[in-house]
Amino acid sequence: VDGLRETASAARRDDRRHVLHSWSSHGSLEPVVVTGAQGVHFSDEEGRRWLDFSSQLVNVNVGHQHPKLVAAIKAQADTLCTIAPYHANEATSEAARLIAEVAPGDLNRVFFTNGGAEAVENAIRMARLHTGRHKVLTAYRSYHGATTGAITASGDPRRWPSEPGAPGFARFWGPYPYRSAFHSANAQEEGERALAHLADTLMVEGPHTIAAVLLESVVGGNGILVPPDGYLQGVRALCDTHGIVMIADEVMAGFGRCGEWFAVDRWNVVPDLITFAKGVNSGYVPLGGVIMSDAIAETFATRAYPGGLTYAGHPLACAAAVACIGIYKDEGLIERTRVLGETVFGPALQAMQQRHPSVGEVRGLGGFWAIELVRDRATREPLVPFNASGADNAPMTDFANACKKQGLWPFVAGNRVHVVPPLVIEEATLREGLSIIDEALAAADRHCTG
Ligand code: PLP
Repeated sequence: VDGLRETASAARRDDRRHVLHSWSSHGSLEPVVVTGAQGVHFSDEEGRRWLDFSSQLVNVNVGHQHPKLVAAIKAQADTLCTIAPYHANEATSEAARLIAEVAPGDLNRVFFTNGGAEAVENAIRMARLHTGRHKVLTAYRSYHGATTGAITASGDPRRWPSEPGAPGFARFWGPYPYRSAFHSANAQEEGERALAHLADTLMVEGPHTIAAVLLESVVGGNGILVPPDGYLQGVRALCDTHGIVMIADEVMAGFGRCGEWFAVDRWNVVPDLITFAKGVNSGYVPLGGVIMSDAIAETFATRAYPGGLTYAGHPLACAAAVACIGIYKDEGLIERTRVLGETVFGPALQAMQQRHPSVGEVRGLGGFWAIELVRDRATREPLVPFNASGADNAPMTDFANACKKQGLWPFVAGNRVHVVPPLVIEEATLREGLSIIDEALAAADRHCTG
């Protein structure tokens, strides 16, 4: 234990002196120093064991240190650690085949990247080259990554400091029944009006100038917004009418999170491009990519695709993907997640909504859920203001601290709690975690005014 403490305190010291963390100032962040992880738990230098209800950044779908995944990486390391992307190798080829096999429709070819943002950048480039058009339509309340194109595409406050960003983007509102931009009365009306609004946006932007509509199949970081039935089919139809490439960003929603291989499968929609990362190999080694339709692949059959990355299709990352997809299949995780969503997540969260005045809405599917917190259920005033920080955000911090006191690591975003544990979580552990959240909601209730 002393040895562990010593290493950890060196880790803290070096971190404080030399690391600038994502989205943070180094003067204020006090990171937890993680010393190990196993299954749905990770542990820190103080010897605390955390129940991971975040899957880190919603990527550790098969849990931490899954033995088969670790073994696959070790075996690949012994064989071939790295090779330039202009060569072929067994791990990359097999990963591409397995991804194409689980992808919908005729999405049969994969362009590999190191993560989600690069996948989005390349999907946009492919759409532009395929159509010969430039403009890209993206949704408010979306996140697509932090490189210049991807952050410009994002419809959330993280893009503000990077503005004006890249040229050629326009935005539309997607469906969000609880906070409708369309004054709709129910989910069906919301879906219809959101489609009419998208059609209008296309009209005034000039459909012949639009290369792609880029959207998250189920919006993740901005609130787990599940589209009403018919919405994604409608987007598909609009894209078909105008020869626009439909890009489904499944970086967070894909690979089992929604209880489907890809979230679009739930509505039988086949986009032209799917971007993926995170769950493809649970993030054990960085990997992302774009899966493309035969028609788009055809564009690059004889014409060189102008893009690439030194580590594209990295053997260690791809071996991890092969193993991870194998785990999804062997452990029946896709189907299991769909059932857990319907039988455990949904009912437990709905019960919390009954008990807690701070719970305005619960929504989600599979292992992908959000609790939206409000001050007043009647007015739906959010528990904290949009993009709150510091003292304004205290109610959410109180809630998070109440979870942490009980050993649960929550995922808090804006006025929401995202309930997104690893998909391998045992039902009993899931119920334990949910009851910790249930108790912690008392801390949010105290801030209610309604
Ligand atoms: N797209 C979506 C939907 C995401 O949720 C994220 C990350 O959270 C990204 C893209 C960016 O992925 P990365 O952080 O791997 O670049």
